[in-house]
Amino acid sequence: MRKPIIAGNWKMYKTWDEAIQFVEEVADKIPSNDKVDAVICATALYLPTLVQMQAESDLAFGAQNMHYENEGAFTGEVSPTQLESVGVDYVVLGHSERREYYNETDEAINKKVAAALAHNIVPIICCGETLEEREAGTTEQKVAGQIKAALAGFDAEQVAHMVIAYEPIWAIGTGKTATADDANQVCGAIRAVIAELYSAETAEAVRIQYGGSVKPENIEELLTKEHIDGALVGGASLEPASYLKLLEAA
Ligand code: PEP
Repeated sequence: MRKPIIAGNWKMYKTWDEAIQFVEEVADKIPSNDKVDAVICATALYLPTLVQMQAESDLAFGAQNMHYENEGAFTGEVSPTQLESVGVDYVVLGHSERREYYNETDEAINKKVAAALAHNIVPIICCGETLEEREAGTTEQKVAGQIKAALAGFDAEQVAHMVIAYEPIWAIGTGKTATADDANQVCGAIRAVIAELYSAETAEAVRIQYGGSVKPENIEELLTKEHIDGALVGGASLEPASYLKLLEAA
């Protein structure tokens, strides 16, 4: 059985005081990580302190992006070495906002996945289609291409420990959620791609999240679906009560 993983993506929200208050509020209410992996992906600026505050808890932290080089003249960037050195466990890679606004390519994402693995950071690899692609019937083709590119060069053992987030772009921050059946179908198609590239065992092991306007009201149905192993959540991860409800649903 795959353990569910619920990851909050705070994007560029929350002041320092708000972030601390959130973590203090949820700290003693996080379900055991025997049941669910609870993750918050915050700005890199806050990660060292948040990780230290929660060293004894089952709440883990992730970055929202990183460079693929360990160090160098890359003004404004954060490296995998730096994230590892402060105890960050996860990194979101290839979020559609990064692909769209910062021209992140499949090739760069593939290098970032390699860098994350080299530093014991679990990559949460995002993929998803635009509304035009969905309407044109090319969703599975688009997502398969993104996944094949992101996974190029890795072996089955490495892939089995990765997390994939299927996030239809038209559902992110819009209030529109894919139906649970549609989301499950695409997550199943991603699993089929992994089975084809590696093996049925690898495909069974890899965790696939759905993301796109997930909230306490719709998470339960999404999680009943065979291929959906959790959620990557933006807006509904910003309030402690709502984040905790998402965790409880898992
Ligand atoms: C996201 O940030 O990846 C996301 C899915 O956002 P939201 O839940 O707000 O749609």
